[in-house]
Parts: sequence; structure tokens; C-alpha cells
Amino acid sequence: MSDRLPPGAVIGILGGGQLGRMLSVAASRLGFRCHVYEPGANPPAGHVAERVTTAGYDDAAALTAFAESVDVITYEFENIPTAALDLLEKVRPIRPGREALRVSQDRLVEKDFLRGLGLTTAPYADVPDRASLDAALAGIGTPAILKTRRFGYDGKGQARIDGPEAAGAALKDMAGAPAILEGFVDFSFEVSVIAARGLTGEVACFDPGENRHEGGILRTTRVPAPLRAGMQADAVLLAGRILNALDYVGVMGVELFVTPGGLVVNEIAPRVHNSGHWTQMGCAIDQFEQHVRAVAGWPLGDGRRHVDVEMENLIGADMDRVPEIAREGGASLHLYGKAEAKPGRKMGHVNRLRPPEA
Ligand code: AMP
Repeated sequence: MSDRLPPGAVIGILGGGQLGRMLSVAASRLGFRCHVYEPGANPPAGHVAERVTTAGYDDAAALTAFAESVDVITYEFENIPTAALDLLEKVRPIRPGREALRVSQDRLVEKDFLRGLGLTTAPYADVPDRASLDAALAGIGTPAILKTRRFGYDGKGQARIDGPEAAGAALKDMAGAPAILEGFVDFSFEVSVIAARGLTGEVACFDPGENRHEGGILRTTRVPAPLRAGMQADAVLLAGRILNALDYVGVMGVELFVTPGGLVVNEIAPRVHNSGHWTQMGCAIDQFEQHVRAVAGWPLGDGRRHVDVEMENLIGADMDRVPEIAREGGASLHLYGKAEAKPGRKMGHVNRLRPPEA
């Protein structure tokens, strides 16, 4: 039997945020139906998916019923509890697979994995307690960043340490959670590669984009990134190595620091990624359709970039600018249908055509 899901098949998506929403839209364009599983009420993906289950990740009956109702299971976030995955996996395939989740759920495991592939990361050390933090600071030096091993996102669960005297306060910020210390990478700029691998092992990468953050949250992604030709190839090749090593199926975001000495891998996300939203305007097949194609066993689509794009996130009060952006030429607006525009909350994004730089 072919592993290729026919139109009409049901894709189960764990997580009902904006990524799940845009995955659902892409899946419906290919004739698939989506069933979203989300503990929170009124999820953005629920407005566009055919079915939503509102239940927690500890609800075995709901998880089993969800899995039985779908043909394949994917997800829009990596912090799915292991026990839920164990249960789901018995019923239907989970793509991307468990190894990608195991590696990306824990910064220490992730760094060890990347180093094991011969890739460059920031210097790092496991910090289970105060004594190990002091030892790590002595070895790595400052500035450095203390990060929780698990559940970090948008710069949360991180504390910068500029000198040994700041160690105590930083450790307190971790609130007892296991952490790692990372040496500060003096990077020129940040890029990410959105990479895809199909069920039969073919790999396709979108062009690297340059990311700018504000307050720890992604603000803009621009393509093309101002990378030297050699580095562009390095970025794409290292992403391919990561995907192959994990026998990965789906789209992954690989975040990189660009330094004069080469590329340093910051982190990987086993899912569609905010820094890949530009592909909606820049490519025939965007990251969401590419992910759906991969997990459905379809051939990967054509992700070549045909235009220069800047993606801007609309965060919190940026929503006030929507009427003005809606009148702008060359701008394509994506809103997530979230009820309340809280500070720091990603409400939508806009993709703009960029004139090629001289
Ligand atoms: P992360 O959650 O690990 O992606 O970190 C969020 C942001 O903090 C990154 O995009 C960087 O801008 C910054 N950052 C994280 N780790 C480092 C590091 N080791 N050196 C320098 N900047 C970092």
C-alpha cells in the first residue's frame, strides 16, 4: 500500500495556534481535512479546521479518539508530553517522528546532538545546581546566557550573566528548573533555514532568511539574507545533515548565528516556523504546504524563491496599524483571529515585496 495519503484523508494537528491554523489552511487547499487537538478554548486553528477536540494532553480517552479519527498526526509545537506521544503513536504515525521531539525538547540533548554531527554550537555546560554554574562560568566566561533546558520560547526562561556576581540572580530566574549555560556568541546577524524532508528522504530547503528580534521576539525576517555564497551553501547543507540524521519527515526551522568564523547553530524547531512565513509570498509552495506534503507522503513542492520579501510580525498593539497596512501596495496581510491583542502576543504578520537591493 502506498504511504501517500489521498485527498480527503484527515490530518491530525496537535496544537491550535497560528501555526496550526496556517497548516490547516494549506492542508485544505490540497483537499485534506484537519482535526485539531488543543487544550485551550477558541484556538485560532479551530476557526479553519474541520474538527477540534478541546482536551488536555493527560486525557487518554480524548487522545485515543483523536488518533483514531485521523490518518496521520503532526504538531505545531514541540513540547508535547511524552506520555501523550506514547499513546498517540500506538494508534497512528506521528510525523515528524519521536527522535526529533526528544532532541528538540531539551536544550542539552539538542546541543549534544548537534555537536555529535560535527556542527558548531555556542560553548555550553549542563547546570543542575549552583556549584556547576560557578564551574561553568569559570570555564565558559562571561557574558553568558543561562537557559532552562526545557519549555523555553521567545526568549523566555533565559537570563544573561555579565559577570560572576550575577550568577545567583540568574539561577533564581530559572525557578529550580534544570538549565544549561551558553557562552555568548558575538554574531554579525541571525538567519534561519526552513528545511523540509519527505517520506522517501528527499530534502528541500528554502532560502535562508535574516531574522531580527525585539525584546526576545522575532520582529522581521528578510530574504535574501546577506550571506556570502559559500555560507548560504553551508547553511543549507548543515540543515540537510540535521534532517537526515533524524530521519526527519516534515518541515524544520534551523536557527543560526552568522559569525566571521562561520555558522553557529542556535536551535532547531521540529515544525513550521515563524521565520518561514515569508515563503507564503516568496515561493510557489510555502512552508505550510511543504510540511503537509511531507507528512502526507506527497512529493515535496517547488520552494524556490521568486521574489525578495520582508515578513513583519504584528505583535500586540501593532494590530492598530491593520487598517493602514490593508491599504498598502505589495503587502499581504495574515491575521490569526485572536480575540485579545495582549503585549508580546503574535496577532498576525505581513509579507511585503522588497525592491532588490542595489
Ligand atoms: P533562543 O530562545 O535560544 O532562540 O534565544 C533567543 C534569542 O536570544 C536568540 O535569537 C539570540 O538573539 C539570543 N541568544 C540566544 N542564545 C545566544 C547566545 N548563546 N549568544 C548570543 N545570543 C544568544
